[in-house]
Amino acid sequence: MAVQLGNKPDTFRQFALRRAAELKQKITPYIEKCKTIPTGLSSIDSTHSTRKKILNYFDATLQDWENWHWQMQNRITDPQVLKALFPKFPSSACEDIERVGKTFRWAVSPYYLSLMDHKDPLDPIRLQGLPSHAELDDEFGEEDPMGEAITNPAPCITRRYPDRLIINVTNMCAMYCRHCQRRRNIGETDTHAERTQLIEALDYIRANPEIRDVLVTGGDALLLSDLTLDWLLGELHAIPHVEIKRLGTRVPVTMPMRITQELCSILAKYPPLYINTQFNHPKEVTPDAKKAADKLVAAGVVLGNQAVLLKGINHQPEVMKKLNQELLKIRVRPYYIFHDKNVKGTRHFVPRIQDGLAVMEHLRGYTSGLAIPTYIINAPKGGGKTPILPQYLVSLEKNKATLRTWEGKLIQYETP
Ligand SMILES: *Cc1c(COP(=O)(O)O)cnc(C)c1O
Repeated sequence: MAVQLGNKPDTFRQFALRRAAELKQKITPYIEKCKTIPTGLSSIDSTHSTRKKILNYFDATLQDWENWHWQMQNRITDPQVLKALFPKFPSSACEDIERVGKTFRWAVSPYYLSLMDHKDPLDPIRLQGLPSHAELDDEFGEEDPMGEAITNPAPCITRRYPDRLIINVTNMCAMYCRHCQRRRNIGETDTHAERTQLIEALDYIRANPEIRDVLVTGGDALLLSDLTLDWLLGELHAIPHVEIKRLGTRVPVTMPMRITQELCSILAKYPPLYINTQFNHPKEVTPDAKKAADKLVAAGVVLGNQAVLLKGINHQPEVMKKLNQELLKIRVRPYYIFHDKNVKGTRHFVPRIQDGLAVMEHLRGYTSGLAIPTYIINAPKGGGKTPILPQYLVSLEKNKATLRTWEGKLIQYETP
């Protein structure tokens, strides 16, 4: 700091007050901007009124709504239902949905649909949940840019790292996200892995003692029945070298009623258990999502979030910052931001790397370190998760570095 400090306490205080005023100014534009970013809580009235319309349409009760089997059975898969629910929903959008639906499957849980602002074509819930014509305009995307099909040493297993692996247990989800990286697996029918395949996968893990971390995902791991989850987690729990278990699921976002007391008492039996979910927008952080997170935390589960950076949904730094702050309020720790991959039919969501860097630049220093995930680009063909960071180390010699602070000041730093 170039300022020469006097040694009188009131001079110190004046200096601190000047700096505090400067910091307050730095955050003001964000606070203003936040007034225009909808959250789960600020949208609650509209959500409840849409919920009422959906319940009327299905002639169902609030008790049905809270039942995840009801949610699964009544997933919306027909644009005529949208037209019936929202008479002003444009016919052209319905036609697009009909047309795209013939190539790429779609389904939305009634709960997730209730979060949508049907009057806004750019609503983040609508963009993630309902097909758009842009999905068919994609000539460049690949089916499997990650090369997942070539990394299966045993049924259901993807192994790409030395000490951990994935078990894919189902292709089912409560909703089929329009940006899904595994849409090649969605197919026409919903299927869980066969028990015999899971037994082979478990045998592979037992035979390879270096595997200390097993990630159960899909599809959505929490679409398995309580019975199957109890069995699978129990089997993993009994393998001495499996130190931690993880579940990948989007139900806290798309169908939080899946997080029942019965499920939580099963999960509580198998610590340490980590659950990573995928909130992409502050609108998804609803009171229902909070309830689900509270139950999971009470069961001893550690919660993390893997957001996907999506153009038009959350690529703006303020939206991503707000998302991460909202997540901390419900005890979900931001873990990763994934750069969206070039999967066929999702090209319209792929942002630029510059967008991701701008997001990271606007997190560090500006907000709690707890709200800062790692920004990841998945190297093509299964090359692995690769972290990307704005440049804070400007130069490095033997005993001397030039650093750039979060505010952009250049600092000389020396080591002995
Ligand atoms: C992402 C991933 C993991 C988990 O990676 P972490 O960085 O430890 O969260 C494990 N296996 C595969 C194949 C993956 O793609």
